[in-house]
Amino acid sequence: MHNTHAAIVVGGGHAGCEAALALAGLGHKVLLLTGNLDRLGYLSCNPAVGGVGKGHLVREIDALGGRMALWADAAGIQFRTLNTGKGPAVRATRAQMDREAYARAVKRDIFGQKGLSIQQDTVEEILGDKRANGVRTASGLEFYARHVILTTGTFLSGLMHIGLTSMPGGRLGDAPALKLSDSLRRHGLKLGRLKTGTPPRLLASSINTDQLEEQRGDIPLPSFSFYGPPPGLEQVSCRIAWTNERTHEVVRSALDRSPLFSGIIKGRGPRYCPSIEDKVVRFRKRDRHHIFLEPEGLGSPECYPNGLATSMPLDVQIAALRTIPGLEEVRVLRPGYAVEYDCLDPRELHPTLESRILPGLWAAGQINGTSGYEEAAAQGLWAGINIARSLAGEDPWLPGRDEAYMAVMIDDLITSGVDEPYRMFTSRAEYRLLLREANADMRLTPQGWRLGLVGGRQWAAFTRKQEITAGLEVLLDKLRLRAGPRTDELLAGMGETPLHSPMTLKDLLRRPGMTLDKALVLLDPADDAGGPHAELWALLDTDEKANGSRLVGDACLEVETRIKYAGYLERQVEDARRAAGVEKLTLPEQIQYAEVAGLTTEAVERLEKSRPRTLGQAGRVPGITPAALECLRIHLRRLERRA
Ligand SMILES: Cc1cc2nc3c(=O)[nH]c(=O)nc-3n(C[C@H](O)[C@H](O)[C@H](O)COP(=O)(O)OP(=O)(O)OC[C@H]3O[C@@H](n4cnc5c(N)ncnc54)[C@H](O)[C@@H]3O)c2cc1C
Repeated sequence: MHNTHAAIVVGGGHAGCEAALALAGLGHKVLLLTGNLDRLGYLSCNPAVGGVGKGHLVREIDALGGRMALWADAAGIQFRTLNTGKGPAVRATRAQMDREAYARAVKRDIFGQKGLSIQQDTVEEILGDKRANGVRTASGLEFYARHVILTTGTFLSGLMHIGLTSMPGGRLGDAPALKLSDSLRRHGLKLGRLKTGTPPRLLASSINTDQLEEQRGDIPLPSFSFYGPPPGLEQVSCRIAWTNERTHEVVRSALDRSPLFSGIIKGRGPRYCPSIEDKVVRFRKRDRHHIFLEPEGLGSPECYPNGLATSMPLDVQIAALRTIPGLEEVRVLRPGYAVEYDCLDPRELHPTLESRILPGLWAAGQINGTSGYEEAAAQGLWAGINIARSLAGEDPWLPGRDEAYMAVMIDDLITSGVDEPYRMFTSRAEYRLLLREANADMRLTPQGWRLGLVGGRQWAAFTRKQEITAGLEVLLDKLRLRAGPRTDELLAGMGETPLHSPMTLKDLLRRPGMTLDKALVLLDPADDAGGPHAELWALLDTDEKANGSRLVGDACLEVETRIKYAGYLERQVEDARRAAGVEKLTLPEQIQYAEVAGLTTEAVERLEKSRPRTLGQAGRVPGITPAALECLRIHLRRLERRA
């Protein structure tokens, strides 16, 4: 019996690395087994982190003391804030990564982590009868642990397709995990089949960028982490190219050689991230589709054409690429391909991500039906925290849908299951104004501190930001602007209407076009003799060394949002408070839905599949109507009376 660990993490991808570091960081002895040590935290698809919904997850991971934001800031070569013209709920950070620098940052933390041992091997069998207690590997070794977490990504019975050629693989250059699926089935777990795809990789020097629109990053650089070192790598641009009718014709004329359209691929792919052949067929009327040419890294010869995922035969890929202006001479270094893989039915998981079928077995990442580094990393951290709670005999950590995007994601997965890869969008969160990227730390860092994941430096930065935020709120309510020619002239210069009576800065900030930066300009230096003015400038002049500028910037944004959206925020808080009432109504674990009067057969089937924990969750099971929910509520009352 190989020495016993607290937990074994199977898979060194985004989910596996966050889970392993969280568990070892909380003092547990962890073994990380992965199929290829050279590809720890490997970005299998686009060299980018973040985006709408995904950036929100990355900042929540950071707020809780996870690592992805720090790795992304260390390896970022172009940063942008998306949706700056829209409300704060949908503003999101996205950054291009230097793929190698990202992997280096991950490896540094993984190999530097006390209590974490790492080994290259492929897990083929989950050991244990009524409870998982270990694994057997391809090299015939057995390892034992109190908990086993699977984070196997696209590798379970992975099958790759390029045209009508199929080959086993979890991704290009990596062997699949062929035996583990059968072991899971033998333990009674249900498996599904999904698919995802990636574009070819191009030789950057063979692209004529002169004709292509340049897309620069934002200055000043946004970043993901609330407290880590600001991004330091050289920043580069992306280029924008467009397909055209000739491109579409090349693809259309070869659809008989597409594994997707010839029915070879069985797994369901992501509708929101379609391959080029999918786009050409589904959006026939569109005469062009845009492509973002993303550099793979500083000094990397490769370029990633985002928007050209494909599994067409290589000759068709090349022919289609060469119809695109700027790519007439392009050289393909790696083909685009699709990969099909087995995944679990996440409805068979507890909200902690432990299996309901085989206790002691946990799962996180793509194996649960999601797609994306960020979704995977968030699940890895969540499962790592809850395994640690279980090891310590403590209650699970289960924040609500009004507290975190990761809670929205996990609740969606275990309640509704997946019929295509699940990607996070802000539209999935009913309380998205409460779940802004910018306040992830306000929502989660105190919890990360209580969980023991947030370290002293992060906590110090957070409490300092809280002080600045609280101080600003008080001062903006105290500082008054006098109406008069000076103020009106400045307001006119900002395209704002004059003041008719003295007004606090807080009230002024309620004006749609007003920002805190503008409002500060209106403050009259003549009134600067000590008191709230001096206090304000002192607050805004927080020490540079202590990350001052970002803390102040974040605090100002937070205060501005709270003032401008006060009404909406109150309403969402009220909605969440009301929903919490229903969330509290727990459904007995042994409830027999067939016995609930008034439920349709379909409703019984759906509820039996999902086995929701609360009435609130039952209400989110797809196909469960308000009428069905009322039947359940009446049944619950009857059970209570009987009890
Ligand atoms: C071809 C392709 C296209 C993609 N396209 C997109 C996309 O368009 N959009 C998007 O958001 N995401 C896309 N992704 C997905 C993205 O890469 C994943 O969502 C993300 O990597 C999932 O992280 P993970 O940690 O769950 O798994 P992965 O990053 O896949 O890591 C899994 C790890 O587990 C290891 N492993 C697997 N099985 C075993 C075993 N039995 N024993 C030991 N180790 C094992 C592997 O070696 C690997 O290190 C794509 C991925 C691929 C491969």
